[in-house]
Amino acid sequence: MSKIDLAFDSKHIWHPYTSMSEPLPCYPVKSANGVKLQLEDGQELIDGMSSWWAVLHGYNHPVMNEAIKAQLEQVSHVMFGGITHQPAVDLAQKLIDIMPSNLECVFLADSGSVAVEVALKMAFQYWHAKGEFRHRVLSLSHAYHGDTFGAMAVCDPANSMHSLYGDYLPNHLFADTFTVGFDEAWHDSAADNLRELFKTHHQELFAVIAEPIVQGAGGMRFYHPNYLKVLRELCDETGVLLILDEIATGFGRTGKFLACEHAGIEPDILCLGKALTGGYLTLSATLTTRHVAETISNGEAKCFMHGPTFMGNPLACAAANASLSLLDNGQWQENVHRIEAQLKRELLAPLKKNPHIQDVRVLGAIGVVELKQSVNQAHIQEYFVENGVWIRPFNKLVYIMPPFVTSKEELSQLTGTLVKLLQRDDFSKFVL
Ligand SMILES: *Cc1c(COP(=O)(O)O)cnc(C)c1O
Repeated sequence: MSKIDLAFDSKHIWHPYTSMSEPLPCYPVKSANGVKLQLEDGQELIDGMSSWWAVLHGYNHPVMNEAIKAQLEQVSHVMFGGITHQPAVDLAQKLIDIMPSNLECVFLADSGSVAVEVALKMAFQYWHAKGEFRHRVLSLSHAYHGDTFGAMAVCDPANSMHSLYGDYLPNHLFADTFTVGFDEAWHDSAADNLRELFKTHHQELFAVIAEPIVQGAGGMRFYHPNYLKVLRELCDETGVLLILDEIATGFGRTGKFLACEHAGIEPDILCLGKALTGGYLTLSATLTTRHVAETISNGEAKCFMHGPTFMGNPLACAAANASLSLLDNGQWQENVHRIEAQLKRELLAPLKKNPHIQDVRVLGAIGVVELKQSVNQAHIQEYFVENGVWIRPFNKLVYIMPPFVTSKEELSQLTGTLVKLLQRDDFSKFVL
């Protein structure tokens, strides 16, 4: 049996956020089943990452596999210009049914970053069609919205190194870091900064963009639902469009189907990605209201100016339809609540007083341990793999967000391995 050539890989293939001159080790995965990744040498790892928020039902799921195979034999791809197909129509129908009721126009693209680009362009074109050239967006500190230039420009300036790109990035506005966590006591002055920014700048703004409740790759932070409510109110008062990026939070991860349900609000534009296909194929959707869509379409351009080659890919749509049908019975909710309770028992309680940690927090199927120091990526990864789990920290954050079908025992192995690491006498080996 052929071996994956790791030397070739490290010499020639970029991995996410890595160096070509000093690449970090990569582990060769041969197959994956349920919540387990099989390495080439036969070792099994319990997946604590859901392949970055994407995998919900586990790997190699028979219903998912069947749906994709069936579509493969019909048509795997066809251009979307002037052509449509059943998987796309079914998916749009399903999304319109289950997403906030004001959203009824769907744009299907191929990744989360592109969904964000599309959302920003929709909002920009909306104002342009109304005869106004508005050039700025209000975003949040610690935001993450993707890696393409438009998306990067609304990411936290420090995390995404805006200074590196200089004048090449548009100069958007960023709200101060929020001060009230998800389950802390709300006080109205916590939104004063937002009100100030709106007062001074609302006429420049074509949109506000936010990850609702959970900020992901920009720091795994959970904020208070009222903060989001205030954003909605400020947008309503001024006509600025509210874009919610639910690419990470959508499809149940935070305990609600969409994270914006925690605040009981609806966006003008919604971005979905990651778990949209249950983690099987790359696909994103940007949804908006009839009002926004018609305003754009009646503007000077007469159309929305975007159209990716693989738009509405039938295989990806078939995967999304299968994933949504698996979510239909509502079982996910029980699973996420079970995982949340277990993460609270097995992470929050034992780690509260641990000297190495800054904070530990849990929401839905997300458990975050924020360390005082950044991890030594190579060492800590090796420790996890030796202990049969796949947990991939970044900077000071070690977090667990398992597929919803993870069993009690499997989750205990993930939390137990993490807690044991933090209790080791030689813990300093694993941080920088
Ligand atoms: C991952 C992510 C994106 C980018 O999605 P890609 O598919 O990686 O381009 C955008 N926004 C949020 C909140 C994300 O978590």
